Amino acid sequence: MTEVTQVRARPTVFLEDMGCQMNRLDSELVLGKLKREGFERVDQPADADVVLYYTCSVREHAEDKVYGRLGTLRRLKEERPEMVIGVMGCMAQNHKDLIFKRAPHVDLVVGTSRFEDVAELLDEVKHGERVMALDRKDLAFDRDISVRPRRDQAFITAMRGCNKFCTFCIVPFTQGRERSRSVTELVKEAKQLRDDGVVEITLLGQRIDTYGLDRQDGTTLAVLLERLHEDVSGLERISYLTSHPNHMSDELARAVADHPRVSRYLHLPVQSGSDRVLQEMNRGYTVDDYRRAVDVMRNRIPDLSLATDWIVGFPGETEAEFDQSVDLLRELDFHGSFVFKYSPRAGTRAFDRGDPVPRDEKARRNQVLLEEQKQISLRKNRARVGSEVDVLVEGISKRNSAKWTGRTDRNLIVCFPAGKDLTGRLVRVRLTDCTALTLFGELV
Ligand code: SAM
Ligand code: SF4
Repeated sequence: MTEVTQVRARPTVFLEDMGCQMNRLDSELVLGKLKREGFERVDQPADADVVLYYTCSVREHAEDKVYGRLGTLRRLKEERPEMVIGVMGCMAQNHKDLIFKRAPHVDLVVGTSRFEDVAELLDEVKHGERVMALDRKDLAFDRDISVRPRRDQAFITAMRGCNKFCTFCIVPFTQGRERSRSVTELVKEAKQLRDDGVVEITLLGQRIDTYGLDRQDGTTLAVLLERLHEDVSGLERISYLTSHPNHMSDELARAVADHPRVSRYLHLPVQSGSDRVLQEMNRGYTVDDYRRAVDVMRNRIPDLSLATDWIVGFPGETEAEFDQSVDLLRELDFHGSFVFKYSPRAGTRAFDRGDPVPRDEKARRNQVLLEEQKQISLRKNRARVGSEVDVLVEGISKRNSAKWTGRTDRNLIVCFPAGKDLTGRLVRVRLTDCTALTLFGELV
């Protein structure tokens, strides 16, 4: 009997992305480039000629996960030495050649400014070189818009980098200074996506509310939202992430309020309810400043959905200071909270202060905030039962394949039964039941 080996006509790539939406989008750009070079995407590293990880560095846990993945590839690389293994993105920029030292079977380390050159860099590896590409250069944003996980939705990078240097955060070191793309370029990309079936776009930036300021030509996020709303017909929803409290303005509040297809969801990380901790974090505002920023937006946008981030166990955070976070969470009636246990990041200013809050205490604080938020979310959702909402349908529910799921303009998740595929359509739903995270209803 002759042995049959499956020979693939095209080179194959396995790519896993980790971390934020911006990483997901950058990994789509990488896949787009490789698709043009003839690569086919596969679901398992074992089937791949090239294995790439698009990594995150925000917390230590994210980096450990990558080293774990690389460890499991060692055997595969021994069996197939021609397989190429690459680490891309924030952790590549952060760990540099340490990656080669800890995982000698890695061939390629590509930082946050060079991922567009992935095809050329892979060529260099194939010629026998181990390649590290970490230099900074302007990105061209040459995007293959057809490469994206959802047909109806797309992310757009409006800006990169961060100038804020919060003392806990690695992002300004891995992503560099703020660079905004032009309104013209972004409107053009949104139109191309719309023509390819997209009805919802989400603009991405670390401090999206500072969008345009580096261009010094009067460009602002408000201007961008207005232009997208006016010039790109057919988009049902325009969202933006993430905001910083120092840049909430009446101009932005009006741009959201006056344009119905702009999302009424604001992700505005507060991090702590203690002025002392906020100062130690170099966040640049007090709790009162944060309250005022929220008021600026809520005054013009009734029932704004306000979500936030918290860090628990920042070095020196006392129990009393943590209690101030709990009080602020209750007072501001947040729609949602993302809670993170402090993770020391080498190179940041807070790193020198060690990690004095014990792991168990961080876990407790994490749990307390999540439980408080759950109670608030449940109360808010219960008050909505009986009302009708417009839902932009995203697809079949992951939890229940008999139901469809989508979101309102306030980012509320709604599940409902429907007899046909309504993905990408705006439908009216009467709400009948809820949990803290999900609303249930029926089509009207
Ligand atoms: N640019 C956004 C901002 O200013 O809030 C968020 C960027 S960061 C990738 C997302 C969240 O991760 C932050 O809001 C913060 O709560 C959390 N984070 C950042 N560095 C952290 C660290 N060293 N330990 C724990 N959480 C961290
Ligand atoms: Fe990190 Fe602060 Fe910049 Fe957000 S604003 S990315 S938390 S440095």
